Amino acid sequence: MEWEGGRRSGNIEDRRGLGPVGIAGGGIGAVVLAAIGYFVFGIDPRTTMDVAQGLQQPAQQQGARGEVSDRDGQFIDVIETSNREVWTPIFQREGVEYRPPEAIVLYKEATGTGCGTGQSAMGPFYCPADQKVYLDLSFWRELEGRFGAKGEFARAYVVSHEIGHHVQHLLGADQQARRLGARGQESGSVRLELQADCYAGVWAAHAGEASGGRIVINRSDVQDGLGAAAAVGDDTLQKQTQGQVVPDSFTHGTSAQRMRWFSRGYEQGDPSACDTFSAASL
Ligand SMILES: [Zn+2]
Repeated sequence: MEWEGGRRSGNIEDRRGLGPVGIAGGGIGAVVLAAIGYFVFGIDPRTTMDVAQGLQQPAQQQGARGEVSDRDGQFIDVIETSNREVWTPIFQREGVEYRPPEAIVLYKEATGTGCGTGQSAMGPFYCPADQKVYLDLSFWRELEGRFGAKGEFARAYVVSHEIGHHVQHLLGADQQARRLGARGQESGSVRLELQADCYAGVWAAHAGEASGGRIVINRSDVQDGLGAAAAVGDDTLQKQTQGQVVPDSFTHGTSAQRMRWFSRGYEQGDPSACDTFSAASL
């Protein structure tokens, strides 16, 4: 993957220099969030937020906004900006304005969010309440080490999956999933997660062209993305952590499902192909 020449918009809120805040203030909330989010990347914070609501809210933190000077941070900036380049015209065709996430927040260990205390053990996540993506870059080591998902494109897939949750928030898909959940239908959150995977595929399909060639994604990159999607499937994660698969507790989809929906988005390049809510089978 080539991204170094990609445009950046400086929509980064850098809290990495701040100490971990929120654990003391977050109290029980922090513990609950961490327990639920453990090992799962991109957990839908609403699931955890429902639990955390009523518990003590952590202090809101503000990091420095704008351009960052380190390579890891700049990579995130490029991917966020690239998602804008891809989603803006897609929204425009529907007569809707694409508003980017409020910020991608880089933090270490723990931080206050609009959805309760974020902790790095939760993995990257999107908070719809403040429309920010939260990311502790130590996750990249886990992604390569524990999950065995190598390559920069695997990281880009993760970031774009989270921005996919923002796209869902703009389009109201999260409300749709909540209604499914309220009716007691299974897999509302799985459908949401697989749609975010599909949106990450849509981003990958258009990123090169939308960047004017500043970003180059090749076939082996897409394979890395599929590898990452497989590595973070619920079944694979469960086998690693418990030695068995318990389908009832799936929230993100199996490895096969995640690969299928990412591929679908990539091959069709059209978000209307990502309607996991109407799909008869996932
Ligand atoms: Zn997700």
